[in-house]
Amino acid sequence: MTALATRSLATRLSDIVETSVATSGVVAFPKSTVELQATLGVLREANQSFLVTATAHNWGYTAGTERVGDSNSVTISLQNMCRIRTYDADLGTVTIEPGVTQGALAQFLAEKGDRFFVDTTSAGESVSIVGNICDRGFGNSALGNRATHVLSVELLLADGSLVQSDSTSLFTNQTHTHAENVATPFAPGPGLVGLAIQSNLAIVTAMQITLNRRAEYECALGFELTDTKRLPEFIEAIRDLKQLGHLPGCLHVANDLRIISNLTRLPRTTPPDLRPLTSLERSQLRSEHGTASWTGFTLLGGTRDSVKAELAAIRQRVGALARTRTLTPNKIYSLRRTLERICTRWPRILNIKPIARLRNKLERGKILLDTLRGKPSNELLYNTGWRCLDLENRAPTPQELDAGSNVGILWYAPAVALKRDAVRRVMEVAEPIFERHGFDMLTMFTFVTDRHGVVVFNILFDARHEKARARACYQELLARGRVEGFFPYRLPAFAWEEMAGQAKPTALSSLHARLKKALDPSGLIAPGRYGIG
Ligand SMILES: Cc1cc2nc3c(=O)[nH]c(=O)nc-3n(C[C@H](O)[C@H](O)[C@H](O)COP(=O)(O)OP(=O)(O)OC[C@H]3O[C@@H](n4cnc5c(N)ncnc54)[C@H](O)[C@@H]3O)c2cc1C
Repeated sequence: MTALATRSLATRLSDIVETSVATSGVVAFPKSTVELQATLGVLREANQSFLVTATAHNWGYTAGTERVGDSNSVTISLQNMCRIRTYDADLGTVTIEPGVTQGALAQFLAEKGDRFFVDTTSAGESVSIVGNICDRGFGNSALGNRATHVLSVELLLADGSLVQSDSTSLFTNQTHTHAENVATPFAPGPGLVGLAIQSNLAIVTAMQITLNRRAEYECALGFELTDTKRLPEFIEAIRDLKQLGHLPGCLHVANDLRIISNLTRLPRTTPPDLRPLTSLERSQLRSEHGTASWTGFTLLGGTRDSVKAELAAIRQRVGALARTRTLTPNKIYSLRRTLERICTRWPRILNIKPIARLRNKLERGKILLDTLRGKPSNELLYNTGWRCLDLENRAPTPQELDAGSNVGILWYAPAVALKRDAVRRVMEVAEPIFERHGFDMLTMFTFVTDRHGVVVFNILFDARHEKARARACYQELLARGRVEGFFPYRLPAFAWEEMAGQAKPTALSSLHARLKKALDPSGLIAPGRYGIG
């Protein structure tokens, strides 16, 4: 599109919808499905393709890593479509629009009595739930494999038609709909929820999702691996426990640097150089911050007795591999409050380093625990500034991350089978690549199901000097991983282009193309996104 055409389109759009024109192109902000349909109508008439975002905070994948659109592109941002359409206080379900953020839904549920809580990711308060699910994100709780807990979706097709995936809408009489009786996931006919996940076939205008029931008794459980070399064995032990019905949450196992990056900045006085931390420096950091080489954490819930029985089974299976630590949320909250009172009364006590560290740890522990319990916090963005020394001791704001600030983030996130050889191999492949490109390998392993996990390798960089090197590191991880059979569950936009360019034509790629042609014949919705036409 020429600059002139862009301006004229922006003018036409601004008659029907809030519109902005920025370096990233024209952005339309519909507030309702009706406004969205009108926006789509204008774009269809102009035969203009567009990107779709919910809150556009897909940091490390699309946002922040690069400009998503160019100055003549068009984006439909659904951040202002933020209604919570339904809440069922018996079943624990909500129907939400794409602009509903984790923070807004958490607050809504707290106001409804805290009977249910939403699975919460570590990306803070301002991110959407629908956008995250569309990109197949995962969170922390038993419903953390979010895409599998979507009950129904409402889809807007490129021709303007609005489709309810719940087929009971075909058979119910308008005057006689027993909405409260409808069991959407069991509606007869083909399941269409999958059309919403990592696809550019339709625009999701609403999603009905499942919520976690707040347990009568909660207990935070931590693991500290006693021998790093036994990580693959530990992963298999947790897999076995999960398969037997224990540890239902998306348990995370983080390496030392991933934990330490939540507590402090990279210990350098000059801007980061090419040299990753040596093993001696890492072990000094571990003892300074009282951190193990690998730490696992999750939240258990149930009755006091069921949690006790659960802990006994867990300790019996992993006792030889890891130390377990438990704390109830109340204990953590009250420890923190007590220390805060002491520090307010005698502020100089904070000059004693171990006390300052304990305070920091309790503060971060509380934030993490809140997240596991469905209360998101932007403070969890802190670790992204690992190599940005001028951020000092604060978390970058969502606005700073959106604006492509100095904070550079790329996630290389291969999915792995929960088998010891696969876990060992993925680490062996990644380690020398991080070393070669001069980055510390911050790693988090997440049990997304009881058979498969995702290893999120964080490439955190200072975007002023290290962008090209970070991207080269990512590309080598991607290329080497492919040779070994490791594929990321989710990719930055530039990597999708590369992967799609190298994909073999198969019956599957032909099916994708035919679906796209059938549902969006002019290729209006995010052409090329997720490797589809
Ligand atoms: C410190 C930190 C921690 C993070 N932790 C997590 C984590 O625990 N789990 C996790 O999954 N991610 C995590 N992220 C990554 C990311 O920030 C989140 O996934 C975030 O929720 C995605 O942004 P969004 O919700 O604004 O999605 P958007 O950017 O709005 O959307 C993402 C993509 O989904 C598609 N999409 C969005 N809306 C629609 C729609 N209505 N219809 C059709 N397609 C649509 C588009 O392709 C879009 O590019 C983290 C990032 C940081 C920096």
